[in-house]
Amino acid sequence: MLENYEDIVLLGLVIVGVLIAVFWLSMVMWAYRDMRARSRDPLAQMLVAVMVALLNIPGLVIYVMLRPRETLSEAYERTLEEEALLQEIEEKPTCPSCGQRAQHDWQACPHCHARLKKSCVECSYLLELAWNICPRCTTSQVSYTSDGTIATTSRHVKPAEPPPIDAKWVAS
Ligand SMILES: [Zn+2]
Ligand SMILES: [Zn+2]
Repeated sequence: MLENYEDIVLLGLVIVGVLIAVFWLSMVMWAYRDMRARSRDPLAQMLVAVMVALLNIPGLVIYVMLRPRETLSEAYERTLEEEALLQEIEEKPTCPSCGQRAQHDWQACPHCHARLKKSCVECSYLLELAWNICPRCTTSQVSYTSDGTIATTSRHVKPAEPPPIDAKWVAS
């Protein structure tokens, strides 16, 4: 009877031991994986795993307190967001004459009446003042400098010559 009781205690101890070992191992694994998501430095990843393995729960608490705030993907996403925001600010056009905010489709500045864009004489597509050809319909345009004076006069643009045909291609 006593022998049976000892067996049960032993079994209980083994189960508790296995549970503690699994818990310890998953703690180390979790800390290692978490650090890997936050740092590319393999030495830092190893150090975190070793610290949690040696100090157990206090080690884990210390790690959670000291770990890098952002994961690598969070940091990457933040960089993307910042870049997009910066681009948005840079792309906002301003009036070259008075510096006020303008819109992409404004032909004149409503604050100082400076000319900002012109429309194509043929298809009304909005063009930069300096352009002397419409990129959409290839009609040549009068180009202005920023102060509104004519920079170049309109001239006809010849269509591009077709490339010369190679004789040996014609022969065969
Ligand atoms: Zn203006
Ligand atoms: Zn046009």
